[in-house]
Amino acid sequence: MGGLAAAADLARRGAAVTVCERAAAPGGKMRRVQAGTASIDAGPTVFTMRHIFEGLFADAGERIADHLDLVPAGLLARHAWRAGGRLDLFADVAQSADAIGAFAGAKEARAYLEFCARSADIYRTLAGPFIAGQRPSPLDLVRRMGLRGMPALWRTAPMRTLWGALGDHFTDPRLRQLFGRYATYVGASPWQAPATLMLIAHVEQDGVWLVHGGMHQVAQAVRGLAERQGATFRFGAEVSEVLVERGRVAGVSLAGGERIEADAVVFNGDISALPGAQRPVPATPRRGRSLSAVTWCLQARTAGFDLAHHNVFFAEDYAEEFDAIFRRRTIATAPTVYVCAQDRGEAGGAVDGAPERLLALVNAPADGDVAPLGTAALDDLGDRTFGLLQACGLSVERRAEASIVTTPAGFHGLFPATGGALYGRANHGMTGSFRRAGSAGRVPGLYLAGGSVHPGPGVPMAAMSGRLAAARVLEGFAAARR
Ligand SMILES: Cc1cc2nc3c(=O)[nH]c(=O)nc-3n(C[C@H](O)[C@H](O)[C@H](O)COP(=O)(O)OP(=O)(O)OC[C@H]3O[C@@H](n4cnc5c(N)ncnc54)[C@H](O)[C@@H]3O)c2cc1C
Repeated sequence: MGGLAAAADLARRGAAVTVCERAAAPGGKMRRVQAGTASIDAGPTVFTMRHIFEGLFADAGERIADHLDLVPAGLLARHAWRAGGRLDLFADVAQSADAIGAFAGAKEARAYLEFCARSADIYRTLAGPFIAGQRPSPLDLVRRMGLRGMPALWRTAPMRTLWGALGDHFTDPRLRQLFGRYATYVGASPWQAPATLMLIAHVEQDGVWLVHGGMHQVAQAVRGLAERQGATFRFGAEVSEVLVERGRVAGVSLAGGERIEADAVVFNGDISALPGAQRPVPATPRRGRSLSAVTWCLQARTAGFDLAHHNVFFAEDYAEEFDAIFRRRTIATAPTVYVCAQDRGEAGGAVDGAPERLLALVNAPADGDVAPLGTAALDDLGDRTFGLLQACGLSVERRAEASIVTTPAGFHGLFPATGGALYGRANHGMTGSFRRAGSAGRVPGLYLAGGSVHPGPGVPMAAMSGRLAAARVLEGFAAARR
């Protein structure tokens, strides 16, 4: 997504852009797989921050609505616990507060309203100076905010963990678990991620969109935009080297030996895939990697649970899940399971007993390069994962011929130098957000985009990183002309 957005912006501004993509289709993690007779979104499913894409299209004189059919989701997600209890969260805060009141009592409902206000405050504080700006250091951030912004910056609780800060609001452990899960949106543990990630709650309330035809349409739409601006796409074109001559970027060479000359290169792979001399920050050490996942894309009949589009199934011991992944480098005995029921509208609804398209996901350590899961371990994990769903009331008829499983090793193969980490470096500790590289590589003419660089992972953030990289490229061209 970073590369696609950069291509659209650069082509619009008159650069001759060639996109070299090693896969057969655009989108990267936003990919689609074939399971049985169904084509299933195998990557991101929650589409937020639509305004970032509106801006991308509007700057090119186009309307996103002409290319993507986006339906606002009133129901954000359905949550279920193995020990009992179900809770729907809605885009409408008052509706969610009512649901929380019925689920956990009036005190927790009030706490939720305070939490929402805090989340919105953090978002407003950081959206401009951090998310939308070129990578700031902590000092830059303070400068950008100015003295008058200091109280707001302090309220973002940069020194605290997400889990700790959630304890200010919720006493029901299930609610802390539910909102703590936002850390996983950037591949982090709620016990180590900064409290600033509370802003994700606000981002979701601001709008989660269902994409007609599936998430992959977003990648296709941005590819179309870039092509209309004049960019050329080459698929099955793996870049083996970013060429450097006389101290600056000269182009790329492809795995087949072909050389493509260029004044600038925007690199959209994981930053760890670049050689050290080209990277402005060190490669991510194994223990610094963000979450990987095991995913099952299934065409399957389901029964017993009224699935919504987005569903989360929790076991009891959430701390164990992250201790297992980040300390013991294994998958928890009973991991949280996310299920996207891709044929269901926002509120669920019947699929008439027909096989439906599902993506099931559990978090995993990003050790796909050093400790790939064996067949027996994967079978066992499958049994535990679908066993947890069963314990929550959902039975899924699994058929091997209609199921595609992707492991951390599989993700490592798709996204080189990551071990399967899906979100770059884990956003852990109070300086975690500042350890990502900015848009500039270490060699003149080399620029960086994607979830492993600022402002971080997630589809809209990656798009933003591409726009920031494009802006830097154009600044570089302007400086060279001067
Ligand atoms: C299972 C899953 C669920 C997710 N859920 C969500 C979600 O619900 N919402 C959300 O917002 N985000 C989600 N994310 C995260 C989101 O998908 C990513 O942060 C974002 O799409 C990453 O974009 P990117 O720009 O980093 O590029 P990537 O998606 O990493 O793509 C990089 C591209 O570069 C190509 N490439 C790499 N090296 C080379 C090379 N040497 N030569 C040529 N091509 C190369 C790759 O093939 C790939 O196409 C999810 C991710 C996954 C995997």
